[in-house]
Amino acid sequence: MTNMRNREDTMRKLTLTTAILATTALTAPAFADSHLKVVDKPLELSIHMHWPRAQGYGVGGSPSEIYPVEQAAREMTNVSLVDATAGRNSTDSNEAMNLLIAQGNMPDIVGGHLIQQPVNQYGPEGAFVPLNDLVKEHAPHIQAFWDANPDLVQAISAYDGNYYYIPYLPDGKFGRAWYIRQDWLDALGLEQPQNVDELHAVLTAFRNDDPNGNGLKDEIPYFARQWEEVNRLLTLWDARSSGSDTYHDFYVNDAGSVVHPYAQDAYRDALSNVAQWYEEGLIDPEIFTRGSSSRDYLLSENLGGMTHDWFASTSGYNDALADKVAGFNFIPFLPPASEAGVRMEEHRRIPIKPDGWAISYTNENPVETIKYFDFWFTDEGRNLANFGVEGKTWDLVDGEPIYKPEVLNSDSPVNSQMYLEGAQIQRGYFQDYRYEWQWTSQAAREGIELYDANDLLIDQFLGVSFNQDEQKVYDKYWPSLRTYMLERQQAWILGSGEVKADWDDYVKTLNRMGYEDVITVLNSAYQRQYN
Ligand code: CA
Repeated sequence: MTNMRNREDTMRKLTLTTAILATTALTAPAFADSHLKVVDKPLELSIHMHWPRAQGYGVGGSPSEIYPVEQAAREMTNVSLVDATAGRNSTDSNEAMNLLIAQGNMPDIVGGHLIQQPVNQYGPEGAFVPLNDLVKEHAPHIQAFWDANPDLVQAISAYDGNYYYIPYLPDGKFGRAWYIRQDWLDALGLEQPQNVDELHAVLTAFRNDDPNGNGLKDEIPYFARQWEEVNRLLTLWDARSSGSDTYHDFYVNDAGSVVHPYAQDAYRDALSNVAQWYEEGLIDPEIFTRGSSSRDYLLSENLGGMTHDWFASTSGYNDALADKVAGFNFIPFLPPASEAGVRMEEHRRIPIKPDGWAISYTNENPVETIKYFDFWFTDEGRNLANFGVEGKTWDLVDGEPIYKPEVLNSDSPVNSQMYLEGAQIQRGYFQDYRYEWQWTSQAAREGIELYDANDLLIDQFLGVSFNQDEQKVYDKYWPSLRTYMLERQQAWILGSGEVKADWDDYVKTLNRMGYEDVITVLNSAYQRQYN
């Protein structure tokens, strides 16, 4: 059986090679960059690539429309990826992964959004190939990245100590920032607030003193597109809202233990203040319901005073509303110092995503595949993954990849253009922040430089990989605990109950619902993984 299979494979490859030689004999020097070539004979690998922007490996998710980046990669490496994505009908990548695993017919490469948990669960059971030795032996560029960032290898490793995927590695430090209406401050003769008490005074003035000048008490001092950003105010009283770029995540405390922010005494006291500010009308009364259009609406109607949101997109409003709102000036400002005197920006870009790609057990060419993965960490591959095809979307200018003017000046955002090229998609690659800096507005650049000069960032909790027993405990208790925490949180902010009065009962309920068991498995996994 094995022999016959091998012979058939050999026959097939020979036939294929002959056919290709016959058709490309005259254009063979097309593979000029021979140092990037992964295989001498063309190799086809199947791929599952499911992510929110596209459910399939091809332009817009279409399996038949090949990405320009894929075409270029084929010419450079001699490896072709052929789409074999499961769950194309759904935008839910978890659902697609479950379908892929249930169907049993795994493609050579499994990639896309949220693959870390499944590859760490099924990898040790044999569904995916451990990459540690393969990378050490065959992927010098990836290994060099790990050697420079050993903590990130720990963070992606499964409970057996191996790692099973090459992640999408974001670049750049800052994500969100505090924004305030400088023109409102000016209108009221106020300075930018430097601490939590000054912020309280400013928001109160926004509420009461008619900074938009229409004679109505219609201002919304603090608002947010994502209601979860109301919790970011907790940091002003030295509590936490999350340990990572995922809302409501665990964090590592000063003692080196993993804990949940919403089970800490600091949270009780801070949330009590947030509820007070809500009662005083300093926080959008519709914070939980207004939704994703609230930034657009409240700014364009000259009603919103302050928010916590992304540098790049929030800085765009000054240009967008210049004609609509006279004097409009919404600018980033330093996080006000907390009650204990700490200026902190809790949000930052996470250095690794749970997205990327893995090699499935059915792959008969794991060495060639890891060499192919390594290609994307070479200078040429990294430029291709970030900026698209050289000469088409960008040129090398004084050694720097620079987008062509038609890309930068297009009505379509640069990232959306890149997704259609096959760049900035969720393969395993190292993002290059120069990709984003080129289309970041001057105001946002100045804000980023201000934040960068003030040492505001804190370490992130990069997650743990559970063994099977730990996973069971976590799955049994955590979802209902989280739901309970968020229900209570919302009720307290809205004034139903009082957090300080309810606290002892709340803590008892958390413990009855398994909080300590969840913390125990998180810490056992954390110790194994990081120590
Ligand atoms: Ca007003």
